[in-house]
Amino acid sequence: MHIIKKTPGEIEAMREAGRVSAKALRIVGEHVRAGVSTLELDEIAESVIRAEGGIPAFKGYGGFPGSICASINEQIVHGIPSKKVVLRDGDIISIDTGAIVDGWVGDNAWTYPVGSVSPQLKRLLEVTEKSMWAGIDAARPGNKLGDIGHAVQSVAEAAGFSVVREYVGHGIGRDMHEDPNVPNYGRPHTGVKLEPGMVLAIEPMVNMGRAATRLMSDGWLVVTRDGKPSAHFEKTVAITETGPVLLTVEDGYRRPL
Ligand code: MG
Repeated sequence: MHIIKKTPGEIEAMREAGRVSAKALRIVGEHVRAGVSTLELDEIAESVIRAEGGIPAFKGYGGFPGSICASINEQIVHGIPSKKVVLRDGDIISIDTGAIVDGWVGDNAWTYPVGSVSPQLKRLLEVTEKSMWAGIDAARPGNKLGDIGHAVQSVAEAAGFSVVREYVGHGIGRDMHEDPNVPNYGRPHTGVKLEPGMVLAIEPMVNMGRAATRLMSDGWLVVTRDGKPSAHFEKTVAITETGPVLLTVEDGYRRPL
């Protein structure tokens, strides 16, 4: 394992990739409604990223065709955008998108409700977002990697949900996926020591039912084995002396929770 720590100047430089990633994610979210296809959402993300001087980080990554991953209901992550996939009222959709600016990568995701969703789905979204914030709050010097996973897992499981094991968060910098892996489960005070300069994408994937996943035949799309819904929230976070600093945010961002 080789963790590439970033200088304060490099972290500062990563803010722009983070800002563009956050803007694309927000604007795509504003277009989430019944009747829209995930390919339309993909085109919106790509045009926002390019208009801001960025390059879509996902496009061509390992052969992935889109600028977003769009994953609906029981789909966990890595859904390929398609004109055949059209949102319906009551769905939830995870949008994951990222931008490269000046060689630095930002990566973020949010799960949006489509129209009005059931109370159970609303709760799944709230709990998953809350688990992300718990993980982010644990991303500080003095803690270890297991503290992040433990924080995420505790929130998700206390609500009766389960966390995905096979897909995890990651270090991020000039590459979208750097060491270390950042699992959404773990034991406190175990694993790699967290130090200033580490930059992590913290991204809980929380299932309403069981944790087991299945990879579909396109080689990308991951779904829950039990067919129950799954939610996904992600932010890119720098660990600094004074604690976690959010990088995938727009100017003037106020944290909701
Ligand atoms: Mg990620």
